[in-house]
Amino acid sequence: MKIILLGAPGAGKGTVAKLLTQVDGSVQISTGDILRGAVQAGTELGKKAEAYMKAGDLVPDELIMDIMKARLQEPDCAKGFLLDGFPRTIPQAEALKSLLQELGISLDLAVNLEVPREVILDRLTTRRTCSNPECQAIYNIKSNPPKVDSICDICGSKVIQREDETEEAITHRLETYNEKTAPLIGYYEKEGLLMNVNATSSDTVVKAIRERLGI
Ligand code: ADP
Ligand code: ZN
Repeated sequence: MKIILLGAPGAGKGTVAKLLTQVDGSVQISTGDILRGAVQAGTELGKKAEAYMKAGDLVPDELIMDIMKARLQEPDCAKGFLLDGFPRTIPQAEALKSLLQELGISLDLAVNLEVPREVILDRLTTRRTCSNPECQAIYNIKSNPPKVDSICDICGSKVIQREDETEEAITHRLETYNEKTAPLIGYYEKEGLLMNVNATSSDTVVKAIRERLGI
């Protein structure tokens, strides 16, 4: 499947993407994970992206498009992909459209995960992430804590609160979402690709997508 996952920070794009990879071997492409990995590895890309990310601002479109142009041409994308956290702006959506045309790829759907604001705020403040850039497993101190306090179940690294998950940065990320990313819902509706789903439960989202695509 070739799907874009849209939705506010904390809507569950990463969780849904991980579940969908198990359905047909499509790969999850998270620009946030790629950027966090680059920051921790101290690469040129990481150095350019770090300050924006820490403040909860978007990284410039050109940097993101360079990443995605290379990533979408890697062989593992041939089976399908779940775009998680990209596109985030109208210019990124337009650049993606011409990139996909150039590569001869057509999208199946843009899925908009709808979650009430209170749920979003609660999820983001209680979210914890594995600090190992190769893992980045997601936990929640209330609903899904690691088995051993602050230690990742999968890889044993420390589980931490992301720097952009302080209350101030979260508020700013939500404002950025409303201003820059929410307009993509109308954009994909016009493109005839939009599917809205109530995303309070990730399993329900996966079921709705499978039904829609008949897989
Ligand atoms: P969330 O969806 O939980 O806000 P992500 O992990 O998707 O977080 O992204 C974290 C940060 O990485 C964003 O706040 C932003 O700074 C940067 N980022 C990720 N994807 C993009 C993108 N497509 N365009 C611009 N910035 C991005
Ligand atoms: Zn881990």
